[in-house]
Amino acid sequence: MSTRWLVIGGGTAGCVVASRLSEDDHNEVVLLEAGPDHGPGPVPDRGGAYLDEHARQYPELTVIRRQGGAPEPYPQGFGLGGTTLISGGLAAPDPELFAVSNLLPIEKTERLGMLGSAVLDADARARAATLVRHNGERVTVADVYLRPALLRTNLMVVTESPVVSLALGGWSVVRAVTADGIEYEADRFVVCAGAIQTPTLLLRSGLDTPGIGEALRVMNGIGWTYVILAEVINAPYGLGALITVAGKRGRVDQIFALVIVILVIGVVSDQILKLLNRSLFRWKT
Ligand SMILES: Cc1cc2nc3c(=O)[nH]c(=O)nc-3n(C[C@H](O)[C@H](O)[C@H](O)COP(=O)(O)OP(=O)(O)OC[C@H]3O[C@@H](n4cnc5c(N)ncnc54)[C@H](O)[C@@H]3O)c2cc1C
Repeated sequence: MSTRWLVIGGGTAGCVVASRLSEDDHNEVVLLEAGPDHGPGPVPDRGGAYLDEHARQYPELTVIRRQGGAPEPYPQGFGLGGTTLISGGLAAPDPELFAVSNLLPIEKTERLGMLGSAVLDADARARAATLVRHNGERVTVADVYLRPALLRTNLMVVTESPVVSLALGGWSVVRAVTADGIEYEADRFVVCAGAIQTPTLLLRSGLDTPGIGEALRVMNGIGWTYVILAEVINAPYGLGALITVAGKRGRVDQIFALVIVILVIGVVSDQILKLLNRSLFRWKT
């Protein structure tokens, strides 16, 4: 039996995830990308030109970087390839940390732009970063990971389909809905919409519960303490009242036994709420 995967966002992470998942014939993979497919072909090289390609980035995406600050433009790639449509194409130079051989099919070149060379010249401690290229050309992640995988029959890519919400069935996500109202069902969902749009999609879909389970545990602990205190002071029955009676009779053994019972009930009820919390809000653990 195959597993249906829905990958949301065809950027740096989404292209690699979709490509890797579709290597397994048991997976049926659908990738939904908000932007268009700009097609294969040379991507503007380093030096700032890539940031002038307005069609390749979200035009009105702004973020507030500091509390109380004004909204500032946030550059993010729009289309298959995601932010590699506009990024600098630099990879970490540390071969142990980020071995280029692990990143195949990407190859490296040591070619440096004017700015990179100036930085290297300016500081003896500076080390050259690696520029990622394929066949000598700057490419997007879609070109090196996704396009070669498109021949597979178990991979489908749908562009210009922004996902607007995720729908829950029981306690799992079962469906994604796009801006034009199309619903995609799957067994597994991978949201790769970038650092800003991934959390906003989850928030829009109500997938962030404001700590209901944790609040319930705290309230249970506080409530239990109050009940016992009230029973000790004034109630004719209950565990607290039994402690008062045992105290009046000088039965220290009974007082200790009752305190242990109260503790056990408190710990057990807290553990039950903890387990409930974990099973109801699995995505939080
Ligand atoms: C100007 C610039 C230069 C950079 N230079 C470098 C560099 O030299 N080296 C380096 O390592 N990193 C660089 N980075 C950072 C790097 O590009 C990002 O960290 C990386 O691309 C993020 O990958 P991602 O998959 O999380 O998001 P992205 O690559 O942004 O992909 C997200 C994708 O999801 C799509 N999407 C968003 N919302 C939805 C939705 N609701 N439904 C469907 N699809 C959606 C978007 O259209 C996009 O295609 C640079 C970034 C910028 C902005």
